[in-house]
Amino acid sequence: MSEPLSLVWLRRDLRLHDNAALYYALKSGRPVIPVFIFDRVILDALDDRLDRRVEFLVQEVNRLHDELAKLGSTIIVRYGKPVDVWKELIETYTIGDVFTNHDYEGYAKERDKAIGELLAERGIGFHTSKDQAIFERDEVLSGKKTPYTVFTPYSRKWKDTLTDFYLKSYPTENYSSHYWQTKPEPAITLADMGFQPVGEPFPAETVSDKLLDTYNETRDFPALPHSTSQLSIHLRFGTISIRELARQAKAADDQTFLNELCWRDFYFQVLDHFPHVEQYSFRREYDQIEWRNNEDEFDKWCRGETGYPIVDAGMRQLNTIGWMHNRVRMITASFLCKHLLIDWRWGEAYFGKKLRDYDLSANNGGWQWAAGSGTDAAPYFRVFNPTAQAQRFDPKSVYIRQWVPEVDKPSYPKPMVDHAMARQRAIDTYRKALAKV
Ligand code: FAD
Repeated sequence: MSEPLSLVWLRRDLRLHDNAALYYALKSGRPVIPVFIFDRVILDALDDRLDRRVEFLVQEVNRLHDELAKLGSTIIVRYGKPVDVWKELIETYTIGDVFTNHDYEGYAKERDKAIGELLAERGIGFHTSKDQAIFERDEVLSGKKTPYTVFTPYSRKWKDTLTDFYLKSYPTENYSSHYWQTKPEPAITLADMGFQPVGEPFPAETVSDKLLDTYNETRDFPALPHSTSQLSIHLRFGTISIRELARQAKAADDQTFLNELCWRDFYFQVLDHFPHVEQYSFRREYDQIEWRNNEDEFDKWCRGETGYPIVDAGMRQLNTIGWMHNRVRMITASFLCKHLLIDWRWGEAYFGKKLRDYDLSANNGGWQWAAGSGTDAAPYFRVFNPTAQAQRFDPKSVYIRQWVPEVDKPSYPKPMVDHAMARQRAIDTYRKALAKV
């Protein structure tokens, strides 16, 4: 029998540097080999064969393949249902231990539980670590030892707890000789996965100190070319380390940027502690709202043909590049829930299909915030005015014209709903729903 291996199951942590699970595997004393599984359950649910996330994954898995080849090793890549893949891997390799990093989504937690049990039955150790969050689960709790459900006190505690200790890198590079020495497996292609390339470059995985210097002033203005970092796809798939990024923000004393990273942790822990948010309103009384759910209106919103230029610009940016500026995500989401009275879950699912940075916890948190049903909701009677938002955050319509060039032409549609009427209708509908409880 050959020497037992340590397998590192990479998922949302596609990097060889500063990776907790990989570090513990490299220190395990067994030869180490990374594994990536293209989850068939997730890929089969995607109805568009042009998908930026799959394209990014293929690109990044091949990058790991090349980096590992230089170290005399390789990455095992499989396509299938994770539990079936693990059954096959157990038959193919002599496995001593499996290492992986935590994932807070309901599906992932169930999957990991099942695989942990399968491995335990075969006498294989399953070791999991925190990696994608700075603080997770019960690391930032209120004085009563309960999870925070409001961001501001959470962020205060988060920042007070954030010593350099939590931002230390895992020095995987010190153990580069511990990879299993083997021939490289063949590289993979998008076509192997049944997908086609979108063919646009992805944003860089670095943030400049200059951006961090100006972030506080620029971040709300979608027309500015580098108003935000565009790192979300890298944070989503772990091609950048959250600890390195937070260290950089801390060194630049950029409290606003750190605050955004704190929102990310906040929503991870909300999802982990309150898994009902995947299906229901965080505040269950909001499930009493009688949504209008008009399909034609939903289609207009999806296509960016509402007649509200800032909403249309945002939706077309999303449809075209798979990313939308945060300020505009808030405006478009609010418009769907409040102006059109369409269930936030419809909008959440549409963003889920289109966003290259789609992340269940942040997307759900953002949508529930916009619907008013979430942790940090503004009072329901505060309804964003899309015209006023555009005047404030895109005063010269530069962003609008980029995505809606026909905005001043007669062909551009009139607003699909009157703002004052829609605002009052939303307030009345919410009031009625909340009066029931
Ligand atoms: P930057 O402003 O440069 O921020 C840096 C990083 O901080 C981001 O990459 C992200 O990881 C994190 N971050 C910033 N704002 C938030 C926030 N409000 N909540 C959680 N993390 C945050 N973000 C996602 O990563 N995936 C999503 O699916 C997602 N869906 C959203 C849906 C709605 C309705 C709303 C209002 C927000 C959503 N966000 C989501 C949060 C935010 O819009 C994006 O993280 C941000 O626009 C990504 O661009 P950036 O990397 O340039 O952000």
